[in-house]
Amino acid sequence: MARFIFITGGVVSSLGKGLAGAALASLLQARGFKVRMRKLDPYINVDPGTMNPYEHGECYVTDDGAETDLDLGHYERFTGVPSRQTDNVTTGRIYQTVIRKERRGDYLGGTVQVIPHITNAIKEFATANLEDEDFVLVEIGGTVGDIEGLPFLEAIRQLGYELRDNAVFIHLTLLPYIAAAKELKTKPTQHSVKELRSIGIQPDILLCRSEQPIPQGQRRKIGLFCNVPEEAVIQALDVKTIYEVPLSYHEEGFDEQVLKAFGINDAPKPDLSVWHNIVNRVLHPEGEVNVAVVGKYIELQDAYKSLNESLIHGGIANNVRVNVKWVESEQFENAETSPAAVIGEAHAILVPGGFGERGAEGKIRAVQYAREAKIPYFGICFGMQMAVIEGCRHLAGLPKAGTSEFGHYDPNVVGLMTEWTRGNKTEVRREGDDLGGTMRLGSYPCNLVPGSHVAEIYGADRVDERHRHRYEVNIAYKDVLEKVGYKFSGLSPDGDLPEIVEITDHPWFIGVQFHPELKSKPFAPHPLFESFIEAAVKQSRLV
Ligand code: GLN
Repeated sequence: MARFIFITGGVVSSLGKGLAGAALASLLQARGFKVRMRKLDPYINVDPGTMNPYEHGECYVTDDGAETDLDLGHYERFTGVPSRQTDNVTTGRIYQTVIRKERRGDYLGGTVQVIPHITNAIKEFATANLEDEDFVLVEIGGTVGDIEGLPFLEAIRQLGYELRDNAVFIHLTLLPYIAAAKELKTKPTQHSVKELRSIGIQPDILLCRSEQPIPQGQRRKIGLFCNVPEEAVIQALDVKTIYEVPLSYHEEGFDEQVLKAFGINDAPKPDLSVWHNIVNRVLHPEGEVNVAVVGKYIELQDAYKSLNESLIHGGIANNVRVNVKWVESEQFENAETSPAAVIGEAHAILVPGGFGERGAEGKIRAVQYAREAKIPYFGICFGMQMAVIEGCRHLAGLPKAGTSEFGHYDPNVVGLMTEWTRGNKTEVRREGDDLGGTMRLGSYPCNLVPGSHVAEIYGADRVDERHRHRYEVNIAYKDVLEKVGYKFSGLSPDGDLPEIVEITDHPWFIGVQFHPELKSKPFAPHPLFESFIEAAVKQSRLV
């Protein structure tokens, strides 16, 4: 039977609970345990799929097509365990499930209440769909004291009671440093634990974020007032790269304390060589490259979390630091601002996923610049669609080409499949009246054309990659574009959906309809990012 680790957060939000959990999971894995990570999100949205990336950061997509919280991206990047639909749930989904049951009459006329119906649904979710995991780490979103978090905390309290020795509670807090007093303050932590205990949860371990080392006396004080053994008050100091977190936690005895809390004294020592190697490469690169990411949500980098990490992974593979310059595409829509002036220093250009018309013309200009100046170009999802439109407009004699996402162009070379196929032969999207759930989501296979650049990069003839989009490049324009130097080098198995487009006579020009950044790991950089950064390194030697 799996042991459960519940992770809550206190004092302030954004302390990095997701990262803390992911790092702990990686340490348990390094000791040979099998782990699974889950996230319970207290907000009302049924999933983050319809949430603005400005509000919520990136929407992370799993192989089985769930649109999830970006913390699941951390989980995968640290453990390599693919997340599933059943690993992220929100208040909205829990209520939706319960209300559907109520409408069906499943509650036999009983009064449906938060306790026990909602809390039972949460418990069922937290414990369902497990295999032979040794540890299940369950992170509760939000901060203790939030009204909407209460049913989740009550549910994990009950689980703690039911699971007894097979449950451990970790609480993440912050010790603010007051410069004038030259002191780390423990009071917010005491209050946050008091709040947790008033709900009936006694944390076993306190993970304390702090800018300064925590003196022993302070740890003793926290332990005494919070009812936690002194050695289970773990300091979590800031580190230079997130990939240092597992090493730093291990040094502080975090994983050891967790095992001790479960009464496990004979666990194998962890093999941390992988993390040492990654950290060494991140902190001591042999060179650096500049990559311009031309997008829309650039003020909030959480909107491109996985992308940013994947570029770092590409750097790890090539032993270079990747300096990312986030560029607002809208500025290129003003004819006076030339992409060359803004991104001329870049050794490579990337247009990431995106939605909607705003900034799109600017992205198209950025593609044109990369193509003509022969700067490595990587178009992801929307970035591939923009590359196709750019090629159609400037090379294939279709100056008014566009996508039906923005209205009527002549022709729409990108559009909804239903707009350009006969019948529903290739209909793979889930249809529905709601805004949520109308996209091609999750993992789909893609056949690579032998001899193409991507076939060489992947070293394979078929790959599986994750998708999140509504529109598709219309296969009808394959011949038109192939006549002017493009190659449709990746196609869906039935040959109807263009998945990859590349330019043959260019140092590195690849557009992919899927999101490779969702599968890259620091210990296994995605081949496309590895190759893209390699091309950036070559470019950096030319200029
Ligand atoms: N807006 C485009 C579509 O829906 C691209 C989506 C994306 O880049 N994720 O097809």
